[in-house]
Amino acid sequence: MTAVAGSLTLGRNPLAALAAPMGKPDDFVAGKSDKLTPFAMTQVRLLDGIFKAQAEINQRYLDSLTTDRLLHSFRVTSGLASTATPYGGWERPDCALRGHFNGGHYLSAVALAYASAGNETLRKSGDVMVAELARCQKANGNGYLSAYPESQFAALAKGDRQWGGVNVWAPFYTLHKIMAGHVDMVVHTGNEQALQTAEGIAGWVRGYFVGIADEQRQRMLRTEYGGMNEVLANLYGLTGKQEYLDTAHLFEQPVFMDPLAGHRDELKGLHANTHVPKGIGAARMYELTGETRYREIAQYFLDEVLTERNYAIGNTSVNESWRGDPGNLKGSLQYSDAECCVAYNLMKLDRHVFAWTGDARWMDAYERSLWNCRMGTQNAQGLKQYFFPLAAGYWRYFNSAEQSFWCCTGTGVEEFAKFNDTIYFHDANNIWVNQLIASELNWKEQKFGLRQETSFPAEQGTTLHIQVAAPQRRTIHVRIPGWVAEGGAVRINGRALEAFAQPGSYLSLTREWHNGDKIELSLPMQLRSEPLLGDPAMRAALYGPLVLAAELGAGPKDGPQKIGGYDSGPKQSDLGPPAEAPVAPAGDAAEWIKVVSAKDLAFQSITKDKLAVKPLYRIADEKYAVYWNTEKNS
Ligand SMILES: [Zn+2]
Repeated sequence: MTAVAGSLTLGRNPLAALAAPMGKPDDFVAGKSDKLTPFAMTQVRLLDGIFKAQAEINQRYLDSLTTDRLLHSFRVTSGLASTATPYGGWERPDCALRGHFNGGHYLSAVALAYASAGNETLRKSGDVMVAELARCQKANGNGYLSAYPESQFAALAKGDRQWGGVNVWAPFYTLHKIMAGHVDMVVHTGNEQALQTAEGIAGWVRGYFVGIADEQRQRMLRTEYGGMNEVLANLYGLTGKQEYLDTAHLFEQPVFMDPLAGHRDELKGLHANTHVPKGIGAARMYELTGETRYREIAQYFLDEVLTERNYAIGNTSVNESWRGDPGNLKGSLQYSDAECCVAYNLMKLDRHVFAWTGDARWMDAYERSLWNCRMGTQNAQGLKQYFFPLAAGYWRYFNSAEQSFWCCTGTGVEEFAKFNDTIYFHDANNIWVNQLIASELNWKEQKFGLRQETSFPAEQGTTLHIQVAAPQRRTIHVRIPGWVAEGGAVRINGRALEAFAQPGSYLSLTREWHNGDKIELSLPMQLRSEPLLGDPAMRAALYGPLVLAAELGAGPKDGPQKIGGYDSGPKQSDLGPPAEAPVAPAGDAAEWIKVVSAKDLAFQSITKDKLAVKPLYRIADEKYAVYWNTEKNS
């Protein structure tokens, strides 16, 4: 999300969408056509491992932020006293996007951290924020709540590009974050005051559009508005009040949705993260209304982006947008590829479409993104990446702790607070094991527990331990990832089953489960490669779901090329041109990479430069290359 007027970026969302709210598990999902449902995060706990460690780093970063500083611009806007030092970056008191993180992503993240890890400290901070933001809303007197005055919305309605000396940025985008933060506090912590606030804002939105003609409204919707349709649909799901569904409809754009409904890719030129949240909104509208047109839109859109516009890391976009025709990413490798927000939102959409279909491909896609463009995008201080450089010779850079607050900072703090929201899904009686993550499931209503022990990917498989007081008959569906090589196997209580499942599908194990039953899955990995879409000579190497990266020497450890400030990152012009991609022979990755140690995930190129190779998620400060040039070799 660059700071320009007109169409903007960002996104977040209420995956709340799929989460069960406290106390009323299934109403919220209320999908007339949902097949599967994720477990509430309170029912899943991460066990020791990389995900838990990364989640804890994220919680420490969230805990370093103080509520008085977060609240500053909200209080000032509402005429309330504040002597706090405001945060900087996109939360600076003169930034047109202010409030998106402080009153939005932050609330979502602390709610998610409470639900996923029981973090009471963050929950209390969230409660303070909700109470104080409610005071600000009350002072405004009309339901409005933002960290800038309503005049930015007035400028949007008039079509002004300027507002108070700065460009109009994306006022509804910001409002979406604030509403979604409140909805997440309702859903994940049970904070009822947050529901009142969100309803108050929704009422203001409804009033805002009175007297605005359809044509004018559609013009306004060309400015990025995040997931307004989704959060209003979620509010309808929570309250059953038709007015919120009606208001959600106001955020629909035929110019975007009609081609998708007709299975036409007209995405070229569009800003990616402006549009993925609209797809999530369509998904929620399908779940809440049963109208299959919305499902067509959401599913086709996701399918198209994943198959025709994604890089091997499981994300899309070049300088935040879709620049080319479907299936053609040739020449697009650069410093500012694959905005992290986009992966966050695509993964939300993966979850929805998986819930409707039970098809493993969506969880394969989720896994690809999770390991390659979410893991690794947070540093040891809890700072997050914005773009994901995919040209050779660049490195990761991160936001500063208090002077950035980019869109990707916001989606990042949410992502790293909700790793346990997708590991397990269920229907009335049965369980789907979707992700290989050390964790424990406690399905209280069914008195069924499952403990997943794995050091995946250092270990090529996982073990599931059943915990029941009395024997229970049900089916446990376990994803056999599409990347599994020859030799995959399953053992129950030490005995090998003759049956296995095709890679890229679910293995369904139906029996009477006893306490202590043990399912052991062996999921062998192998080296393989994938071309850059539209440029078969450029290939990424993979091992299981892991994209491998060649190390190209030390990158900066600090300074402006490593830690950013206001801008989304250093400019490519300040960094110099990319390096040459490493050269590899044609053929599969085993032709140019050898496994040094599977347990240590250590690899080496067997090309003449003998490069050290490792999973991309383990690249920290090094310069790296993801794509190899297999054409130059002779
Ligand atoms: Zn972003």
